[in-house]
Amino acid sequence: MRVLGVGAHPDDLEILCGGTLARFVAEGHEVVMCNVTKGDRGSFVHTSEEIGRIRAGEAKRAAETCGAEHVTLGVRDGEVSSADRDHQQAMIDLVRDARPDLIITHYPHDYMGDHNETSKLVFECSFYATLPLYETGKPHHSAVTPIYYMETIMGIGFQPVEYVDVTATIETKVAMLEAHESQLSWLRDHDGVDIVEQMKTTTRFRGQQCGVQYAEGFVPCQVWLRGTTRRLLP
Ligand SMILES: [Zn+2]
Repeated sequence: MRVLGVGAHPDDLEILCGGTLARFVAEGHEVVMCNVTKGDRGSFVHTSEEIGRIRAGEAKRAAETCGAEHVTLGVRDGEVSSADRDHQQAMIDLVRDARPDLIITHYPHDYMGDHNETSKLVFECSFYATLPLYETGKPHHSAVTPIYYMETIMGIGFQPVEYVDVTATIETKVAMLEAHESQLSWLRDHDGVDIVEQMKTTTRFRGQQCGVQYAEGFVPCQVWLRGTTRRLLP
């Protein structure tokens, strides 16, 4: 399969579904990890240009850690908009380039706008990507792709429907997240959290819900054309 993960910021995919993406790669599937924004507004010490450049390098290293390809749409932090024509076109082209059999993205009701707008942008544009007359210069994608929503930050307001056992890839998941060095210090200084510890706690909590050591939870997007009788997650 070809799997496309779309997070709003560099580090969101690593926190919320990194173990599952690592499993996909380990089991022979192709994975593309996209962060919609550059992560260019979360720093006390760098300029936007500097932190954007640093975070692009960290996201690339994180993807390489699990063997995924890394791409970004280069939107500025806080400006993701599902109504923006440029953002729509960029997302359509992302889907047309990746030609995914499965997309993983944010749950529509997470803690901040970039996450929720990314979710909506993926939902809308993965449909538009199949329309031959929605012309972007790239060939249309052949099918409306099933979407799985990864959980919210800290799992608040999120009830998993399917679980993926990530016990075998938890160390890879930690290494992927630790590649985001500048983000670890930003979240410590701005929000007072150790994001690695927080991620491990949530992943352990989901594991205890389904009888394994570590797990990630997902909710399928259940609308017409997105359903399947097959288990798509590992
Ligand atoms: Zn985020």
